[in-house]
Amino acid sequence: MSNTIKGFCLQRKEKIHPNSDNVTGNTAIVDMEIPELKEGEILAKTLYTGVCGSDNSAAIGKANFAWVERPRVIGHEFSAEVLELGPGDHGDVKVGDIFTPLAILGCQDEECPACSIAKWNLCPQKQIIGFHRNGGFGQRVVLESDRVVPLMEGLTHAQGALVEPLSIITNALYNKCNIKPGQDVVVTGCGIIGLMSAEVARAAGARVAVTGIAHDRDIRLKKAKERGFITLEVSPENTLASQFQNGIIDENGVPFGSNGKVDLLIECSGVPQVLTEAISVVRPEGDICVIATYGQDVPINATHLTRTSLNMRGSMGSCRDDYMSAMKLMVTGVFPSEHYTDFYDFENVTQAFEDSIKAQNMKAVVKMN
Ligand SMILES: [Zn+2]
Ligand SMILES: [Zn+2]
Repeated sequence: MSNTIKGFCLQRKEKIHPNSDNVTGNTAIVDMEIPELKEGEILAKTLYTGVCGSDNSAAIGKANFAWVERPRVIGHEFSAEVLELGPGDHGDVKVGDIFTPLAILGCQDEECPACSIAKWNLCPQKQIIGFHRNGGFGQRVVLESDRVVPLMEGLTHAQGALVEPLSIITNALYNKCNIKPGQDVVVTGCGIIGLMSAEVARAAGARVAVTGIAHDRDIRLKKAKERGFITLEVSPENTLASQFQNGIIDENGVPFGSNGKVDLLIECSGVPQVLTEAISVVRPEGDICVIATYGQDVPINATHLTRTSLNMRGSMGSCRDDYMSAMKLMVTGVFPSEHYTDFYDFENVTQAFEDSIKAQNMKAVVKMN
C-alpha cells in the first residue's frame, strides 16, 4: 500500500436504482489530507468498518439522506486505534486504545432537552460521524474523544465494527419492545438490522418470523432460515397480511401468531407499504417498533390504531449504554457475529458497497489498513 491515506467518499447525490449497473457511481476512492487536530479531537487509524444501510441509501441518492454534504468520507460503524491526541483534555483516552466511536454526538448543552438526560441520539443538533464529518471509511479518522467507547475485553477488532448496528437493536428491543418469552414476533425486512433484531428477539425468548422479498430468497432469507427463523417471502400479490390470514405454521407445524396476529412487529424494511400494513398483523394492545426510516410520508389507519389500542414506537440510534449491551451480546456469543459478517479488503471497498446495495451479502465489513 502507498503512503497516501485513502478514503471511500460520497461525491454526488444522483438517484440510482439499486439493481442498475454502476450502483456506486456516486462514490469514489479519494486521497485524504489529515487536518490539524482541534481542541478535544484525536487522530485514529481505522481497523474494520461496516457498510450500513444508511450508507447505501446515501450512496444511491435516496431522499432521506439528501442532507448529507458531498464530498464526504462516510462510515459510522468502525473500530479504530488512537494514534494521536490533539490539544485539550481527553479524559481516560490514550494513544494505543482500541475503540469504537459513538455514531451520534450530542451538543452536550445543559439546556438541551436530549443531552441534559444523556440521550445524545435524540439531540436536535446531533452530529453523526461519517455524515456530518468524515468517518470510518477513511484509513485515518479525526474525531472527538467524547465519542470514544473502548472495546470490551474479549471483543475482536472486527466485532468492533458491529457494535454500533447491534446497539441500535439493543436500544430498540430492550428499551421499547418489552419482549416476553413465548411471544410471537415478526421482523419485517431481512437486512442486517432485521436479522440482528431477529437474533436478539429470539434470545429474549420469542419465536420469530422474518420477511423478505423474492430478491432476498437466495442469500438473506436463506440465512434467516439456516438460523432457524420462520421465513416469509412477501410481494404485492402475496402480502404479509394475507399470509397471516391464511395461517402460518412453524417447522414443527405449530401455528405462528394467534388468529392471524402477532404480539410484536419490528419494522426494519423502510418500505412505506410495509408499515401501512403492519397495524393489521399485530394483535390488539400489541406493539410495533419502527427502526427504519422512509423516503416519503407513510399513511397509517389511525382509527384502526385507536380501536386496537396498538402501541407504535419509533427507536432512533443508540447511546453509550446500548453500546455496552451490544458488546456484551457479542462477547458472550448471544449474538453470533460470525454468521453475519462478510469481509473485504480496503482495495475492494467499492465491491463491498456494490454487494451491500444489491443485497448480495449480510454485513460487509472492510479491513481498512
Ligand atoms: Zn448505521
Ligand atoms: Zn443536545
